[in-house]
Amino acid sequence: MASRRVIITVAPTGSVTTRDQTPYLPITPDEVVADSIRAIDEGAAVVHLHARDPETGKPTNDVSIYREYIEGIKAKSDAIIQITTGGGAVTLGLSPEDRLAAVKELKPEMASLNAGSMNFGRKLFANTPDVIETYARLMKEWGVVPEFEIYDVGMIGNVMRWVVDAGIMELPLQFSLVLGVVGGIPATPKNLLHLVESLPQPCTWQVIGIGRHQIPLGICGVICGGNIRVGMEDNIYLEKGVLAKSNAELVAKAVRIIRELGFEIASPDEAREMLNIPKRS
Ligand code: ZN
Repeated sequence: MASRRVIITVAPTGSVTTRDQTPYLPITPDEVVADSIRAIDEGAAVVHLHARDPETGKPTNDVSIYREYIEGIKAKSDAIIQITTGGGAVTLGLSPEDRLAAVKELKPEMASLNAGSMNFGRKLFANTPDVIETYARLMKEWGVVPEFEIYDVGMIGNVMRWVVDAGIMELPLQFSLVLGVVGGIPATPKNLLHLVESLPQPCTWQVIGIGRHQIPLGICGVICGGNIRVGMEDNIYLEKGVLAKSNAELVAKAVRIIRELGFEIASPDEAREMLNIPKRS
């Protein structure tokens, strides 16, 4: 039997990491595109994007920036593009409609869909049942595959109640298990196992471990049958005290460990098949 294939997602920038924390954070469209392409060449099949103002480096909801990122990455790779619908809520205080603007306009293959409300650090991250339901309905209409972001175990129930039982979408769905956000479920193997055992079947899932948990907990997820996300959105260190000089370095580290464990790395087209994303025409 062939080895299981593991999907690596790279999240190169996010909306919280700053240049003060790491000088290697890609910000301008040229930087984000070049850094993403290197990460894809190392083995990432999915790129998760947040837009930044090229002048200030601050998060922005400017659709034209997303367009530049996407066009640049698509010109040089066949990776799956995923846009956030959450980042702007905490950092920009955007309304639910505005958070969806880039997805509505650009119709990427995937978008994140945050599956519940929580305290995100000191901020309120509001994702009410109305928001979850509306986003799921619209993404289905637009042909955008959602990735349900799970920050605590109750959010899995939200997806079942407001999306699946409501008849908007059917399983299998794709979940991101996010561990280690201040206000969310702490990043421990025990918590990860509890989340995994609480997922509805069939489904696909990945681990997003925050900070130093990114690689160890992500690999724990790989061993348990999941996929992994790496990148400077969630973690800026390659190892203790050593900043990653690019997102590609973080992808390369994950690839090395995954291969050592006897798994293979999924190509973008293999990832499409695993995530039920239609083949590109
Ligand atoms: Zn994000």
